[in-house]
Amino acid sequence: MHALTWQGREKVSVDEVPDPSIQEPTDAIIRVTSTAICGSDLHLYAVLGAFLDAGDILGHEAMGVVEEVGSAAGSLRVGDRVVVPFGIACGTCWMCTRGLYSQCETTQVREQGKGAALFGYTKLYGQVPGGQAQYLRVPQAQFGPVVVPDDGSPDERYLYLSDVLPTAWQAVEYAQVPAGGTVGVLGLGPIGQMSARIAAHRGASRVIGIDRVPERLAMARRHGIDVIDLRETKDLVAAVLDLTDGRGVDAAIDAVGMEAHGSPAASVVQRAATFLPDALATPVIEKAGIDRLAALQSAIAIARRGGTVSISGVYGGAVDPLPMMTMFDKGLTLRMGQANVRRWIDDLLPLVTDDADPLGVLDLRTHRLPLREAPAAYEMFQKKHDGCIKVVLDPQA
Ligand code: NAD
Ligand code: ZN
Ligand code: ZN
Repeated sequence: MHALTWQGREKVSVDEVPDPSIQEPTDAIIRVTSTAICGSDLHLYAVLGAFLDAGDILGHEAMGVVEEVGSAAGSLRVGDRVVVPFGIACGTCWMCTRGLYSQCETTQVREQGKGAALFGYTKLYGQVPGGQAQYLRVPQAQFGPVVVPDDGSPDERYLYLSDVLPTAWQAVEYAQVPAGGTVGVLGLGPIGQMSARIAAHRGASRVIGIDRVPERLAMARRHGIDVIDLRETKDLVAAVLDLTDGRGVDAAIDAVGMEAHGSPAASVVQRAATFLPDALATPVIEKAGIDRLAALQSAIAIARRGGTVSISGVYGGAVDPLPMMTMFDKGLTLRMGQANVRRWIDDLLPLVTDDADPLGVLDLRTHRLPLREAPAAYEMFQKKHDGCIKVVLDPQA
């Protein structure tokens, strides 16, 4: 079969690799009909490149049709249309029975002190080949895959149940927005777009989306989100205070993560600039073409006193130290973590099957391309060229 493999820092290719096969009775094989590229793939593509081995199959957002099932794959049947959650959970261990599927003890990556194994996340999360491929072996298939209606609707209607929607739902859940409260969303990539829409859908009175990419700001605006364009805003905190009676947002969601601008160097410059007086910092920041505050610092700065910071962006260890004094003094609550995909499916299924499309899932993908064009698609998504917001790959085209 053909699959997208990691070959080196910012280098991926589509290669002929062996077809996957059933290895455990609880496995299933899926013929992948759609598979998306995620901001998390960009971490592997660029920032975390030093840790990977050439040849790993990437991809953790996949759906398709069940091609083959092991003898213990539960009620899953050949021919079922399924979406595959990006984390692998058994459904019956101590963690799973408490609803903490992203911490599944059966699939836990113990030797690295991490939670459940993930598709396509290389040796960083259990070495499970990913879904940017024509076929995918799905372990723990008796619990993981979500069967969706085979109703002729486009895959994009259900595909984001694999990651984007549950991640965004969890971001809003963890944000603990008070009734009619205000929410700031840092980053308007796919995760930020959906976090903003879900916050509004769940009753926030004002949602403020923050980014610097024109097409992403425009998409948010189209869904009723107020936006702040970082290119035009010298002082983000002042702009947010202006929109929130001088207090800041009840909840700030960080939907950016560690790679402020795709380069570790940019985040070092950002960090250094926070220690410089304004007169010195401003030219440094402007010359580097980056935002004054990294996303997490911005989230902490725009949250009101007693508010919440909810982090869906991925941080990989080499993180900027947190401003503990500010966090303590403001009395902030922080929540974060790998999305607990299965936990939120029951909340989300009725929304994606609703013909009125209340979350606008059919308005997220900007590009649908054959899998063989994935290398160019990675570059386009990373550089945000051609209005790229979400790329869906078709491995069967
Ligand atoms: P993306 O790269 O498309 O979007 C990130 C956006 O942040 C971009 O639009 C960028 O312009 C913007 N940005 C960069 N620096 C900023 C700053 N300082 N302030 C405001 N905006 C800034 O990625 P995505 O697919 O939307 O994913 C977003 C994050 O969520 C990534 O870190 C990804 O790894 C993470 N993620 C986490 C989970 C989870 O389980 N927690 C699941 C999926 C994705
Ligand atoms: Zn993802
Ligand atoms: Zn489990």
